Amino acid sequence: MRELFTSEHQLLRKSIRAFVEKEIVPHAGEWEEEGRIPKALWRRLGEVGFLGLEFPAEYGGGGGDFVSTVVFAEEMARCRSGGVAFSVLVHTDMSSPWLTRYGTEAQKRKYLPGIISGETVCALGITEPGAGSDMAGIATRAVRAGDHYLITGNKIFITNGVYGDLYFLAARTGPGTPERRHEGISMFLVERGSPGLQVSRKLDKMGMRASDTAELAFQECRVPVENLLGEAGRGFHQLAVGLQRERLVAAILALSGAAQALDDTVAYLRERQAFGEPLASRQALRHRVADLATELEAARQLVYHAAALFAEDAECVMEVSMAKLYATEVANRVAYHAVQLHGGYGYMREFPVEGFYRDVRLYPIASGSSEVMREIIAKRLPL
Ligand SMILES: Cc1cc2nc3c(=O)[nH]c(=O)nc-3n(C[C@H](O)[C@H](O)[C@H](O)COP(=O)(O)OP(=O)(O)OC[C@H]3O[C@@H](n4cnc5c(N)ncnc54)[C@H](O)[C@@H]3O)c2cc1C
Repeated sequence: MRELFTSEHQLLRKSIRAFVEKEIVPHAGEWEEEGRIPKALWRRLGEVGFLGLEFPAEYGGGGGDFVSTVVFAEEMARCRSGGVAFSVLVHTDMSSPWLTRYGTEAQKRKYLPGIISGETVCALGITEPGAGSDMAGIATRAVRAGDHYLITGNKIFITNGVYGDLYFLAARTGPGTPERRHEGISMFLVERGSPGLQVSRKLDKMGMRASDTAELAFQECRVPVENLLGEAGRGFHQLAVGLQRERLVAAILALSGAAQALDDTVAYLRERQAFGEPLASRQALRHRVADLATELEAARQLVYHAAALFAEDAECVMEVSMAKLYATEVANRVAYHAVQLHGGYGYMREFPVEGFYRDVRLYPIASGSSEVMREIIAKRLPL
């Protein structure tokens, strides 16, 4: 398989790794406790250019390729807090790229500089209490009233939704039909503080604790018509394109975090003595680690293959779905065994594998669950 990373990507990796080790790792535990990322981190990430790797240079971005994002996600995932990595990648890759793809020039000029500098933190608002996997089932409505839309409905599980500044929101501008339920969905840019928008709850969750997760209520929330993103009624199609990026990034975050957990486990097995020798010398445990390393490598090759196709703008729905399904499930197997191989210490908060075990559980659920991935793959097989 051809090498995905050039020497420039390797240099980028070095600088991201140094930043993560110096400016994130020492504070990650504190932010996990606080349940939020400080604004200062967003600004620092902006200052060093990591929030705009792929955005066009004319708006302050780095003009890089998708492989730069692969590097960024891999290195962020090693920051010892799944929540920090997830929040940041929701901002850089799971929401804001819709702006470069579908935004008007005026929208890009207004929002991109703040997104790239870390001043404007982004969130993606699709999921509703009654519609998760079934995205076409969203019921939030946007009704045109003069030069505004009035948006009414509820969103749930919105990452960066409590402290974020700009929501990429899906709402219905048309009813759709029973056969074509996905028609009539539109995307909007909704600013924090818009009249009629309320953060109804900060949700308490199992892992990813440094990333804030909101339930949002919209009551005739006034959004100017110029904040419609892309074409009215085409939101579902727009979202479908962006979802491939989101799924790849989720797969990379899960996988890279798992690689770190396995490294930690190997170090632990070498150090921990039992029955007069290091645990690393026990064949049963060595074989377990060998299996996990093999599965991780297989998942990595799937992910890199899908990432290379995506970077070339090639058709890759099947490959991305397989990569997301396999990588996130392998990462969870690694997490399970990493805790087991640490024994009682693996169950303690002070050991990073404990946090990883909780964080990584999200990935087979969010950004399209494993069951949804299987459905997408099955539809493309001659069944
Ligand atoms: C921490 C966290 C952060 C999140 N961040 C965001 C965010 O920023 N923005 C956002 O919009 N959403 C976000 N989500 C929502 C996430 O994408 C959804 O939870 C996910 O899409 C699943 O939807 P659901 O929870 O409604 O589960 P459901 O769709 O109700 O599914 C429940 C179970 O049934 C399975 N299932 C559903 N349909 C089928 C089917 N047809 N065949 C077989 N099995 C099926 C699912 O795979 C799942 O196992 C987040 C969720 C969490 C937990």
